[in-house]
Amino acid sequence: MNEHVGQEFDNAALVSSDRGSFFHPFTAIADQQANGALVMVEAKGSRIIDASGKEFIDAAAGLWCVNVGYGRREISDAIAAQSQKLPYFHSFNGISNEPSIRLSEKLLSLAPKSMRRVFYGSSGSDANDTAVKMLWYYNICRGKPEKRKIISRDYAYHGVSVASGSLSGIPMVHQNFGIPLDFARHVSRPDLYRDAPLRQCHTEEAYSAYLANELDQMIRAEGADTVAGFVAEPVMGTGGVLPPPRGYFQEIQKVLNLYDVRLVADEVITGYGRTGTWFASEACGMKPDLILTAKGLTSGYLPLSAVFVGDQIWSVFEEASKDGRVFAHGFTYSGHPTCAAAALANLEIIEREGLVEHVAAIAGDFRAAFDAAIGGCAIVGEIRSAGLMMGVELVADRDTKAKLPATAKIAGRVATAARRHGVLVRGLPNSDIIALSPPFIVTEEEIALIATGLRNAIEDVTQELR
Ligand code: PLP
Repeated sequence: MNEHVGQEFDNAALVSSDRGSFFHPFTAIADQQANGALVMVEAKGSRIIDASGKEFIDAAAGLWCVNVGYGRREISDAIAAQSQKLPYFHSFNGISNEPSIRLSEKLLSLAPKSMRRVFYGSSGSDANDTAVKMLWYYNICRGKPEKRKIISRDYAYHGVSVASGSLSGIPMVHQNFGIPLDFARHVSRPDLYRDAPLRQCHTEEAYSAYLANELDQMIRAEGADTVAGFVAEPVMGTGGVLPPPRGYFQEIQKVLNLYDVRLVADEVITGYGRTGTWFASEACGMKPDLILTAKGLTSGYLPLSAVFVGDQIWSVFEEASKDGRVFAHGFTYSGHPTCAAAALANLEIIEREGLVEHVAAIAGDFRAAFDAAIGGCAIVGEIRSAGLMMGVELVADRDTKAKLPATAKIAGRVATAARRHGVLVRGLPNSDIIALSPPFIVTEEEIALIATGLRNAIEDVTQELR
């Protein structure tokens, strides 16, 4: 990349202007005022440069999204061409556009066979909101208006809008807002590292059965005729990078079937290859009725979400429309032609370069690099991964799994220290967990640099703790 790029920018002026004008999401105002923002200006592949000219490897792919890497001409060319031809039109009242039609066909060809239609929005949060309303509408159409509670998991992240934020289970997303709303319920997340031993579950299968039983108890306590859906990420991302224990979704599915509860797979992170298959839900044994995607659909080049509607729900919607019912839901940007063009170009890159297969192929080496580099660090309790998603749980004591005090803010500190070593990783909210999710095109050499940078960061912070 152009090594002089930072010199075109007056970093100090940008930081100062940012301080006085930009209200950042999930950012403590005092920290932003004290530390100033990190101002990004240019990126290529897995590398990103800030306004001072410092280069980082983006081991987080933005927020789990820049899967094909930065600087893909095919995507920016497709965006430019479409925005010159037809930049925007809406898709209300049966109006359509060519890129969205082609994208819908393409997506259905990639998705599990039971999926019938695709509904568009702009974000993972709105995809979750759409799923909530689809479940409500579905049951209202079936004459079951009381069947509207939706169960998700503690520490899940499904977004921050009022409805999706209610499904989320991360404390800081609820605190200070008076959510969750009362349609939402939460069961335990599957946490083999910490929770399974507390439950005396000595095998993954036993833990899966325990968690399915917990769900069963909750549905019965609430009344099955009040429960519409269960929402889960195949591999939990922001809630800790938690791959499901063996048999988990099979056991969960049995409970859902028993009580006529629909399954929603939130694949906002996992969709389009992150774990080495196009969709992780199938690979995890889920039989979802709705699949929610965003992020990797365009690799973050433009905002776009897609909700896949499965046949059971779709057939109710079709039947209801014969009585004149309309799903009165949608956004100005649903089916945005330029965003659809970006998605088509992105999916074409993924297919042409075999990136899904590539993720599956390099997952083992990716994991091995971190086992070797940080597996022995005194504060690394566990490393877990699925494809190119990794979580590193930091602890005070590896043997007892004792936590560091929350005031140590260990994850944030390690992430900040990693920046000094030229690596961007994320400290997950309300946790001591570092997340990694590099672009699919990350090279072997870059993986080694990320692993070394993270080790150095962990060692720096370990020194500070002494
Ligand atoms: N669902 C999952 C699994 C996510 O990880 C996220 C964001 O990280 C969302 C939903 C919300 O997406 P957005 O930030 O685009 O609203």
